[in-house]
Amino acid sequence: MSSTSSASSSAASNARGTLYIISAPSGAGKTTLVKALLERMDGIGVSVSHTTRGQRPGEQDAVNYHFVDVDHFKTMIEQGDFFEHAQVFDNFYGTSRPAVEARLSKGEDVILEIDWQGAQQVRAQVPEAVSIFILPPSREALLERLSGRGTDGEDVIARRMRDAVSEMSHYDEYDLIVINDDFEQALDELCGLVNAQRARLPRVQHRHTALLDSLLAD
Ligand code: 5GP
Repeated sequence: MSSTSSASSSAASNARGTLYIISAPSGAGKTTLVKALLERMDGIGVSVSHTTRGQRPGEQDAVNYHFVDVDHFKTMIEQGDFFEHAQVFDNFYGTSRPAVEARLSKGEDVILEIDWQGAQQVRAQVPEAVSIFILPPSREALLERLSGRGTDGEDVIARRMRDAVSEMSHYDEYDLIVINDDFEQALDELCGLVNAQRARLPRVQHRHTALLDSLLAD
């Protein structure tokens, strides 16, 4: 086989996008980081999950989440619509399988902002998924972020802290860790991780088939 046909044939089998799993405890700044990453980079999108939790002020249906009731969610489970789903604290959350698959097969990178339980389910199905855990810079900073505007009671804040510690206890199941101390630096790191995946041989062979073919022509 000539080197020219080798670049083209490798490219054909590597057209799929990369699947990213991003998890963090509440208060680590995950959603803000992901939003900034999407504004900075092309060819990458975030999957909009389904949830049974109530809509918070400022959230939009089909943008932040698909807000559904428990019956609807259970029907989706029965129909096998979910790629992964989990009960996170008091509510159900799940990732639609067809929506993610359609984007990956078009070559788009897809981010799943999900908890550690969902991450385990995705890893089992897609071993090549890249998983990233975002940590806060200190316990004090996390407590401050979880305390909100100072209007919540101590018991509410203590529960948020317990939930955050429970999520963070799974950090060592992830491939990559970003510590969100300085926001711009954390964002640079996150973008760097995505760029590094795009520099992997199969992705480069797909993106730069014509260049490789021309460079290697006899
Ligand atoms: P929140 O209700 O604060 O938006 O999210 C609570 C938790 O649910 C976060 O840890 C978030 O990552 C997780 N979560 C959001 N969507 C999904 C999903 O589709 N699947 C799973 N397993 N977790 C999710």
